[in-house]
Amino acid sequence: MTTERADVLVKGGLLVSGEKITRSDVLISDGKVKEVGPDLSDRQANRTIDAAGKYVLPGGIDSHAHPVFGDKMDTYSLCAAYGGVTTVAAFIGSETHRHEHFGNTWGVRKYNPDIVKGFIDFAEQTSYTDFICHGLITMRDKDDLDKVIPELVKLGVTSFKLFMTWNPFVLPTESSYSNLMALPDDMVMLVMHHAAHNGGMVMVHAENGTCKAYLEEQFKREGKTSPEYHLKAAPSIIEAEAVNRAATMALVAGSPLYPVHLSSHDVLPVLDHYKDKGLALYGETCPHYLTLTNDMMLEQGYKYKVAPPLRESEDVDAMWSGIASGSLNTIGSDFTGYTRNLKLTGSLSGAVQGDAKEPDPDKLDIFQVAAGLSTLEFMMPVVWTHGVNTGKITLPRFVQLFCENPSKIFGIWPKKGSLQPGSDADIVLWDPSRMQVAGKEHGISDLNTFEGMELLGMPVMTMVRGEVVIDDGKLVGKQGRAKFARRDPNATSYAPHGPSAE
Ligand SMILES: [Zn+2]
Repeated sequence: MTTERADVLVKGGLLVSGEKITRSDVLISDGKVKEVGPDLSDRQANRTIDAAGKYVLPGGIDSHAHPVFGDKMDTYSLCAAYGGVTTVAAFIGSETHRHEHFGNTWGVRKYNPDIVKGFIDFAEQTSYTDFICHGLITMRDKDDLDKVIPELVKLGVTSFKLFMTWNPFVLPTESSYSNLMALPDDMVMLVMHHAAHNGGMVMVHAENGTCKAYLEEQFKREGKTSPEYHLKAAPSIIEAEAVNRAATMALVAGSPLYPVHLSSHDVLPVLDHYKDKGLALYGETCPHYLTLTNDMMLEQGYKYKVAPPLRESEDVDAMWSGIASGSLNTIGSDFTGYTRNLKLTGSLSGAVQGDAKEPDPDKLDIFQVAAGLSTLEFMMPVVWTHGVNTGKITLPRFVQLFCENPSKIFGIWPKKGSLQPGSDADIVLWDPSRMQVAGKEHGISDLNTFEGMELLGMPVMTMVRGEVVIDDGKLVGKQGRAKFARRDPNATSYAPHGPSAE
């Protein structure tokens, strides 16, 4: 019997993994899980937390977020912690002029490793949760990929996002942003080549940029700029086509592929086809594609503009069957934290706070509105309510989607997303009987996507590395102890001996 007392014992809860649900206590020492098992003695710990009647889950991992427009890492991670997420993933690029500390991470300037290092420093000081980073590659990096990608991998950033849409000719040409975001196929292929040779993975925003640009341009010329034209300019086939094209190139280049924020029924057969061919291919969807349709755009207008667009109920149904079957592997928030002002004045040129007036619906140009939603804080309760409570997914599948799969795919397994001995003690106590109406998130956005939605089941305590951050709706955690989780290419699910994501 050990005489050294642990810090915390979480006692009497039902422990959920991606495999099973067991009655297990969790003993925590030095921020890590020390022991897991039924009926551990509380004499072993300095503090006992009563988890009776609660599920004990690994903290969620938000695989996809942009804490650089409205909310920065401080308020973004606060939304995360309130929502049961303990590790957040931020997209970091190379633009420096927009933020005093680390710039606008959408990155159209040349890549510079100091931006990523600067972001890590800044986030460690300001975040309430741990975090990982994804790199963003733009046209400006064209001649430096052989340096940029190995350097990022060395920093512990192993995934590289690029855009297959937002082609120059549809957007104002004076914007350097629009000229440099969409990569042509040969550049996509080159990024995949370098990713494959350095243990990395490519993430794609998959929409056929030419089709989208063409449709938007036609609608604008015809004066068709009301909210309904946002979906009409981005039909579901243009997503399926881009995923198909990216998957073909990834297979040829030998690169793993992670298409982000998938939204359409047409995309599922494409994913299944290339998975069958042996491509390391991981599909991500978002809580809004699982719950909301284009009706929100028709009823409430610009507030629900997101790219890809909210679609039809058959697409929502398809996303549920995709996450249940394994065609889709993760759920990310794609959070932007836009305020009304940012959304209406443009995410890159506008000010976070401002007095943008509610637009006249008859004069609104939907193509000028920034695309993005505030979805993080209620992401897990929304998926729980609409998925676990309805039987569309099991509780272990919920843990696979939010915890285990992102951890394995991004190379932080079993440190994150797991509660086995040795894992970080990132723990969420979940009360399945707690009801709430989604309110305003703890961020700065005044456009909260799920506001008003009735939810059953919510996190009531969030711990990051053994320290309580949120306790029954109250913030008790502090800034300054967040850690960047370095990723190991050899620990990813696409590595030869890596863990398999389901
Ligand atoms: Zn995104």
